Amino acid sequence: MPELFIAGRWCAAADGGRRTIACPATGEEVGVVDEASEADTVAAIGAAYDAFADGTGTWASTPLAARAALLGRVADLLARDKAEIARVEALDSGKRLVEAEFDVDDVISGFRHYASVGASAATDRAVDAGRAGISSRIVKEPIGVCSLITPWNYPLLQASWKVAPCLLAGNSFVLKPSELTPHSTIALIRLLDEAGLPAGVANLVLGTGPGCGGPLSSDARVALVSFTGSLAVGRHLMAQAAPTVKRVALELGGKNPNIVFADADRAAALDNALTAVFLHSGQVCSAGARLLVEASIAEDFVDDLVERARDIRPGLPFDPDAQTGSLTSATHLAKVEAYVARGLREGARLRCGGARPDDPRLADGAFYLPTVFDRCHSGMDIVQEESFGPVLTVETFATEDEAVALANDTIYGLAGAVWTGDDARADRVAARLRLGTVWINDYHPYVAPAEWGGYKQSGIGRELGELGLEEYQETKHIWRNTAPAPSGWFA
Ligand code: NAD
Repeated sequence: MPELFIAGRWCAAADGGRRTIACPATGEEVGVVDEASEADTVAAIGAAYDAFADGTGTWASTPLAARAALLGRVADLLARDKAEIARVEALDSGKRLVEAEFDVDDVISGFRHYASVGASAATDRAVDAGRAGISSRIVKEPIGVCSLITPWNYPLLQASWKVAPCLLAGNSFVLKPSELTPHSTIALIRLLDEAGLPAGVANLVLGTGPGCGGPLSSDARVALVSFTGSLAVGRHLMAQAAPTVKRVALELGGKNPNIVFADADRAAALDNALTAVFLHSGQVCSAGARLLVEASIAEDFVDDLVERARDIRPGLPFDPDAQTGSLTSATHLAKVEAYVARGLREGARLRCGGARPDDPRLADGAFYLPTVFDRCHSGMDIVQEESFGPVLTVETFATEDEAVALANDTIYGLAGAVWTGDDARADRVAARLRLGTVWINDYHPYVAPAEWGGYKQSGIGRELGELGLEEYQETKHIWRNTAPAPSGWFA
């Protein structure tokens, strides 16, 4: 069965393009999928545009409660197919099966969240116009055709954060997952179809940005580009979208500070410092890749952290003893290796890792050992640039002011944490951090009702929460004069 989905039909690429998907943990082939060209993307945009029909299409006109009910059915179908979806996600990305299973659970929660919001969401708001005889109200409407572009680290999860609110709002979309990890997204589109979404509302193209992505940000029929990925591509899409003044929603990278004060719960801070950066081999936009630790405890804290990091066991996706998987591609592994080489040149001290594992079972995979650099400072590239791999840089600070200044000394502003036993200090620091998410004495949790997104160059807009739905809505003011009369202006 072909893998592009356009106007409610599964179809092959117009020019016959195909791509082999390999598991990055083993190098073995996972499957061969259709690879779109720009002609397919233009056709998909046309299908979405026709289905939306200026807001008169079947889906846009479907009552909100019925749209929400469809999202609930999708959640049920995802739960039914969880094992198979997690399996393909693990194979495409090289992550452990158990992590892929967590991801699918999160996807299901996201759909259930928007299903429950939708059932009760008020779309109209009355406004007091301050004059007799006027009824004034604000109406939320779907924005139109949405381009949804997703990365390879959490392929289905990132897609779900876009697809669920996009559909709830009544839009049509063209979705393009990363060319490296398409299988879970293909499965989602099948489930949307099975759940009864009208033809043309959901469209899927597979392929690279340069190969098929161009029209997603340049076609005049697209109203919104929602993108999760790298800063460089985000900047490019923003420029591409400018001539037709599209709304642009960007979830970009991060260089996230994890601040540990001397009065923190040591065991919790230490353990979470590992998870913060080494979860999913560091391929997490909110990874706590910069440890800022108070100088008075730094030496022992970092010694213990390095010892724990050395014990983390990389392994194959279905190995129950593995504690972390591979990187998602050999190309990405080469980038991480180059980044570590740069750290050495810059004079950071390598405390552990800095190499591929020597386990012969992992020799064909894109594995990299958890790596810690200390003696770092914010003038170094490795402290400023995202590695998106299992690499931690350690800086020290002496005062609260210094900790905040170091934490904010980056172009990014996605997420970060502060660890302290002093509640007042936690509140002060949280208020001063220029970040979209601040964890106090925790790292990484998120919930669907809370907005997610970045300050500064970590992005524009928010996913999840109320704003995550508003991203996909237009706002219309309707003014009704119940006692029309001449204005008298030119009398
Ligand atoms: P990437 O920017 O290389 O690619 C992301 C997506 O954009 C892919 O689907 C890719 O094919 C597509 N793309 C690339 N060029 C394009 C173009 N010209 N037109 C249209 N589409 C194009 O990112 P990646 O390497 O897949 O993902 C890693 C990056 O994503 C990291 O920087 C990470 O921080 C970021 N990320 C951010 C969040 C967040 O919530 N802020 C979440 C996950 C990942």
